[in-house]
Amino acid sequence: MSEETVFDQILSGGISADIVYEDEHCVAFRDINPQAPVHILIIPRRKITGLQAVEPADTGLLGQLMAAACAVAGQEGIRESGFRCVINAGAQGGQEVPYLHVHLLGGRQLGWPPG
Ligand code: AMP
Repeated sequence: MSEETVFDQILSGGISADIVYEDEHCVAFRDINPQAPVHILIIPRRKITGLQAVEPADTGLLGQLMAAACAVAGQEGIRESGFRCVINAGAQGGQEVPYLHVHLLGGRQLGWPPG
């Protein structure tokens, strides 16, 4: 059994979040420490601890996450101007919360490479 994370608690309603999008597969909410004018996290309702834990049966869910990120980009008005989706995986990837999530970032010119 994986540890309960802050994202489990957001899903269960145990802690509040600024939820901006929900569908059958995914929930999206604003990052509490935004790194851009738009910084939203998209998580699957079905828990996966990270991209490093994905299995072949999860490929459809990964597609749902990316499609949800694109839908949220549209809601936020950054679909045309451009945006970035980031998945941090594991310690060296900078993942702090062990619950798969896509960062949707936009609303300003983003630099490359990331830190
Ligand atoms: P990562 O480093 O990829 O695991 O990203 C975790 C993200 O979760 C960080 O950007 C945090 O700011 C964000 N975060 C942590 N706690 C919360 C929370 N309660 N509500 C919204 N975002 C959070």
